[in-house]
Formats: sequence, structure tokens, C-alpha cells
Amino acid sequence: MADRDVLEKILRQHGYSSFRWIDPERIVVAGWVRMKCRYGCDDYGRNASCPPNVPPVSECREFFSEYSTAVMLHFAKQVEAPEDRYAWSRSVNRKLLELEREVFLLGYQKAFAIFMDCCQLCSDCVGTRAECRNPESVRPSPEGLAVDVFATARQLGLPIEVLSDYAQPMNRYGFLLVE
Ligand code: SF4
Repeated sequence: MADRDVLEKILRQHGYSSFRWIDPERIVVAGWVRMKCRYGCDDYGRNASCPPNVPPVSECREFFSEYSTAVMLHFAKQVEAPEDRYAWSRSVNRKLLELEREVFLLGYQKAFAIFMDCCQLCSDCVGTRAECRNPESVRPSPEGLAVDVFATARQLGLPIEVLSDYAQPMNRYGFLLVE
């Protein structure tokens, strides 16, 4: 079992103050999320961490069922210009990789970070896993794994709303799966 006291200390050392423990069985995986990726997202087929470069929905669900513990990490941000969100995502995702590594080195061999957003580690994604410039570092986003972030966040009392404008404050989420 994960030692939550130790892990919470590490989370706080990495600067995370808003997070919730969640049984991975309560992470909602839904087919509609994949449909939204396929029809309506301009990253579809253009980011190597997003559909169609990800497992089928059933495999995503199975993946979560293999873990006993997860942390849902909350990130709030308001950007001045829509394109500013890419640099923010890049920075958040890089830090999630550092967190995953530290937890892995503690002995949690299954530690796996789920990025807050599609990868964004490069400013121009090549679009396919085969050509990815950092295949060892790329991780999927919750949406890429068909996670219904709205339903999952609301179960935990975390804020999330449909936004109508990029200037509105965002509540985004990443995860760390631990075992
Ligand atoms: S590491 Fe670069 S090329 Fe690979 S998925 Fe991320 S942004 Fe795309």
C-alpha cells in the first residue's frame, strides 16, 4: 500500500497544494470523451500523446483498474492570451514527470503520471508516436485516456466548469497513479 504521509510530503515539496486521493476505480472512463477527441478537437491526429495515438477506451479502463491508489492534482490558471496556455501546460507536464520519477525511485515501480494536457513538451508536435522526439517522456492526458474529468472532479468536490472564453479561469487536472 502507498504511504500517503510520505507521498503527501513529496507532493508538497514539489509545490502541489491542491490535490485529492482517489481510488482509481472512481476515475470515470467514458466513450463520449473519446468521441469528443475524435470529433471536435484540433489536436486529434496532430499530437502524439492524443487519440488516435492512445489505447482503446476499454484498455484505458483496464489500465486504471490495475492500480490501488491515485492522486488527482488540481491546477488553476487564467491566461492573458489563448496561446499562453501551451507554455503553462509544458511547464506543468515537465514537473509531473519529475514527480513521477521521484515516486518511482521511492520503490513505487508502477508510478505513472498523467499529464494535465496533451503533451506540449515540444512547441511543434510531430503527431505520431513513431516519430515522437521524447518517447520516454511523453504521457497521455486524462482526456486522451477517455477520463471524464468533469464527473471525476465533481465526485471529489473539485471545481470544474464548461468555459466559454479562454480569458476565464481554468481548472485543469492531472493524475499520479501509484503502486
Ligand atoms: S514529446 Fe514532442 S513530439 Fe512527442 S508527443 Fe510530446 S510534443 Fe509531441
